[in-house]
Amino acid sequence: MTMTPVKTPPGPKPLLEGTPAAHLAVRLFVLIPPTLAFLVAAPLAWGWGLGWVDVALFVLFWVVAGLGITIGYHRHFTHGSFKAKRGLKIALALCGHLAVQGEVTAWVADHRRHHAFSDKEGDPHSPWAYGTTPAALAKGFWHAHMGWMFNNEVTNAERFAPDLLADKDIQRIDKLLPYLTAASFLLPALLGGLLTWSWWGALTAFFWAGLVRIAFLHHVTWSVNSICHLIGERPFKSKDKAANVWPLAIFSFGESWHNLHHSDPTCARHGVLRGQIDISARTIWLFEKLGWVWDVRWPTERRLARLRG
Ligand SMILES: [Zn+2]
Ligand SMILES: [Zn+2]
Repeated sequence: MTMTPVKTPPGPKPLLEGTPAAHLAVRLFVLIPPTLAFLVAAPLAWGWGLGWVDVALFVLFWVVAGLGITIGYHRHFTHGSFKAKRGLKIALALCGHLAVQGEVTAWVADHRRHHAFSDKEGDPHSPWAYGTTPAALAKGFWHAHMGWMFNNEVTNAERFAPDLLADKDIQRIDKLLPYLTAASFLLPALLGGLLTWSWWGALTAFFWAGLVRIAFLHHVTWSVNSICHLIGERPFKSKDKAANVWPLAIFSFGESWHNLHHSDPTCARHGVLRGQIDISARTIWLFEKLGWVWDVRWPTERRLARLRG
């Protein structure tokens, strides 16, 4: 794709930045329709097409695949926020595959390119790619959220992820992509079928803990790329538009504290301020206590003070 360079806004602030209308439009567009659909569909289906087994499997596969992305693909493989034992490294790569976001190597290459060019030409998914007018931002939002994946662009892994190309474990796991993707849909169905001992239980688990869970995970990950580069608080210095968006903190396992992340990409904890819940960081802390990870890059007061500028 040829990306239109980001135009420098005329004033110190871009046109829609901080305006309530833009905040509202983005939140309405992304959060309300799927939430409403879910809130309407779930009670209608409760008791015949949705039950506790589906809910439990949804949560299980959501958490396992979600943390595979945030702790594995993102904080470990992309940014090297900590070192991990081989068994945990392999487990994180396998769990990340269950989120159906592609191979570790390709994901990491795209994401490192995102950091290298964030919100400038070369960034694979910047909402500012088309300019700062309302129409350009609407187009940019779609592009950053999911449109970018439809461009036939492949980030050069030899340039952006040579360490992973050299990692035999990761290369072997990446080759399993079709099987791991199928497993992400079929495992919930299998478990749902066994737990309820029925074909109907397999089908409903396939729907809720397979299809719906993956769609939900996708939208949360994509929201970090789109919403968290458009609106939100920016307490730390970063060379891009990355911002903290608190309503997404729980669902994104702490990834929506995106301003600190771009300010200090290798930091293992993104929600560093008081009250900023970061489930991924807490899980890494637990892994550290268990002795499975070490050399964790935790934030220090001095470093944070420097990042605040
Ligand atoms: Zn970002
Ligand atoms: Zn990152």
